[in-house]
Amino acid sequence: MHIHVGRDVYGKPVKITGSNKLTLTNILIESSRNKGIDLIGVIDCHAPAVQQEIKQLIEQGSASELDDGGIRFEKVTLLLGSEIEIYDENCKGPIHVLCYFPKLSQIELFSEWLVNRMKNITLSSQRYYGTARELQYKVKELSGIFIPAHVFTPFKSLYGKGVIRSLNEVFDRDLIDGVELGLSSDTAMADQIRELHDFTFVTNSDAHSLAKIGREYQEIAMEEPSFKEFNLALHQVDNRRILRNFGMNPLLGKYHNTVCNKCLTSVSVEMNECPNCGSHKIIKGVFDRIGELKSSEKNELNRPPYLYQVPLEYLPSLGPKTFEKLLQRFGTEMNVIHKAPIEELIEVVPEKLAHSIIQMRQGKLKIKAGGGGKYGSVESP
Ligand SMILES: [Zn+2]
Ligand SMILES: [Zn+2]
Repeated sequence: MHIHVGRDVYGKPVKITGSNKLTLTNILIESSRNKGIDLIGVIDCHAPAVQQEIKQLIEQGSASELDDGGIRFEKVTLLLGSEIEIYDENCKGPIHVLCYFPKLSQIELFSEWLVNRMKNITLSSQRYYGTARELQYKVKELSGIFIPAHVFTPFKSLYGKGVIRSLNEVFDRDLIDGVELGLSSDTAMADQIRELHDFTFVTNSDAHSLAKIGREYQEIAMEEPSFKEFNLALHQVDNRRILRNFGMNPLLGKYHNTVCNKCLTSVSVEMNECPNCGSHKIIKGVFDRIGELKSSEKNELNRPPYLYQVPLEYLPSLGPKTFEKLLQRFGTEMNVIHKAPIEELIEVVPEKLAHSIIQMRQGKLKIKAGGGGKYGSVESP
């Protein structure tokens, strides 16, 4: 069975009204019915209100807890997760990590443990007061999975500012189950760092809105979507493994290029002054940061293919009404992005747009690179 995995964030202050609201239930409905995602991590499950919502779904009979871990809702399985910010004395800057747990009882114990080590447990990605290694030991004690998040983003990540050169400065590498690449990098870029060669790469990211769920995901060979099977796949046990990573073109990420903090002009990494506005604040892009850390040409082990995909909402001229029409015809966004033939697309949308979708699938659309917190963009053909 091939399984799509996404990750999403729930509970961040997003201003969306009506049924588009980013609640846990809406995330599960969207993933199950529109996105064709089989397994989704939600990283606010340490928050008591989220745990309450899950229990309600179970009581109503809309969801059930799986023996192998995870919560099944319709066609999707929820992975109980938590994103945490570490900043201990070994860190050079804050680092985000993801912790996933098999059962509600385990994440409840985790919350109990966290409550004295965090200022506000009801929010996501909060600073935790303790060491990275202590956190790793706790996660393992509760049979959890530990994954450094979006490891290259310039702020709040392992290689961004967290360490000088190596993950060993902060973490026990034996207790890391996988590495999340983040939007501004791909497999080939990350494999320039030798110490990452043994880890499975996951391509997931915060969604922050229902439309963005599934902009990155992976296809996994496993028996069924559950916590246990996901863990086996991360460690490539019994033929469970990631078959393909689907990620955004790194150029589209928010931090690909090195830019001036003030006017977002692209600058070369050696420059300490913006040629446009004279500002001395430069935000180093992922491309240049990986260049600094480079310790290898390529990985000798075989990585699964990394396929670029652009979510439909990035296409200029594709508005919400057209999006709705495409979903009605083709079922899920994945089908539109990867499968729908041109003849059928033309029946639903203008010919020019249909061609853009095909060009996007073939990686032929022109992209302007992102940087300094501004996403890259697809240029109008
Ligand atoms: Zn984060
Ligand atoms: Zn500038």
